[in-house]
Amino acid sequence: MSTIFYTFFIFLLFFLCGQIWLFTEDNITMTDIKHVVMFSGGKDSTAMLLLMIEKSMQIDEICFADTGMEFPEMYDHIEKVEKLINRNITKLHIKKNWMYWFSEHEKTRGKNKGQKGYGWCGKSHCRWGTTFKKTAINHYLKNLKKENEIIEYHGVASDEWSRTLKNKGRNIKYPLVDFGFTEKQALQYCYNKGFNWGGLYDNMVRVSCFCCDQKRIGELKWIYNERPELWQRLLNMQSQTKYNFKDNMSLFELNKRFKESETLQGKLF
Ligand code: SF4
Repeated sequence: MSTIFYTFFIFLLFFLCGQIWLFTEDNITMTDIKHVVMFSGGKDSTAMLLLMIEKSMQIDEICFADTGMEFPEMYDHIEKVEKLINRNITKLHIKKNWMYWFSEHEKTRGKNKGQKGYGWCGKSHCRWGTTFKKTAINHYLKNLKKENEIIEYHGVASDEWSRTLKNKGRNIKYPLVDFGFTEKQALQYCYNKGFNWGGLYDNMVRVSCFCCDQKRIGELKWIYNERPELWQRLLNMQSQTKYNFKDNMSLFELNKRFKESETLQGKLF
């Protein structure tokens, strides 16, 4: 009888110790799961965020990595979204600032050692801005991960699902892929909710930094015509770097071309 009692007593003791260990504050924190929405402000991540809210999905944090070089309409859009959803979006900033890396930072290695500035960012040059954005996000998530398990939510449309493959094995979810939402549907959904980015999507294939070298000539012409203050900023930037904006063309040359076409049109009509 006493053996059974002692065995039961020891078992009970182990069980209680286990419960105390599980419920200490540290252990509760370690097992917390945080649902973090990666928000670029574009049509896909905006549609994803609004749909997630509509479907009452848990969202603990919404992060936006800011280069400081978005179109003013994009910053207005982010404010509008914050108002609609009645919560703040966490703004993560790149180290130093864009213009420092663009024209001031002195290279310390490689064949360009001693030269200043990375110049334009995008397809034809190195995508240093993307790297700095990722660094800002990773740094922030690293701190969150110390005490939480993180599930990230990325706004990839269902017709772009192949982009998800590169992140296989990571704790990332793609609600638009799950909902079968294409890029076109995402844009229409945002328009229906009253978001139009001041017409940016009517004039750009992809809304990105206004100084992104991936801009097509037609998009640059739109900036030249419709956003002269941004065009002037681009020309000022061109004067601070030796790199051409497009492979064989500086923005000064493009500016000349645009002006010439205006004069020609003036003569024709
Ligand atoms: S949008 Fe273009 S300029 Fe901005 S960070 Fe990305 S690649 Fe660089």
